[in-house]
Amino acid sequence: MKKTRNTRQRGVILGILRESHEHPTAEIIYREARRVLPNISLGTVYRNLNFLRDQGTVREIRPSEGGSSRFEGADTPHAHFHCLHCSALLDIPIPPALESLRFEEEEKISAVSQIDLHVLGSCSGCEAMAAN
Ligand SMILES: [Zn+2]
Ligand SMILES: [Zn+2]
Repeated sequence: MKKTRNTRQRGVILGILRESHEHPTAEIIYREARRVLPNISLGTVYRNLNFLRDQGTVREIRPSEGGSSRFEGADTPHAHFHCLHCSALLDIPIPPALESLRFEEEEKISAVSQIDLHVLGSCSGCEAMAAN
């Protein structure tokens, strides 16, 4: 019985993440999930997100400037662009040159499982506002 409920909660949370391209915070996922599961708590959303992240189904993105973690369904590897002026978090490709670097040749590295690249700056929306 308990397992079924957990599976349903996880399914709803995953569905929200797969449909969103905004890298929602746990709070936003919670608000969305409540439309389908009115009794779900924020704690349950966090617990499920942690479970799915540990499982490798969901990626957690921690903003370098502090603030809430953002989440996304783990799909093809990509890097992230963070706007320093608003909450925009955009998917950008990992430069092929970076992927071809042989980090394992460094004396203190034995294996690389993932490249996690964060690029910080101004998004085009914030740039346009500053120009006015
Ligand atoms: Zn911005
Ligand atoms: Zn992303």
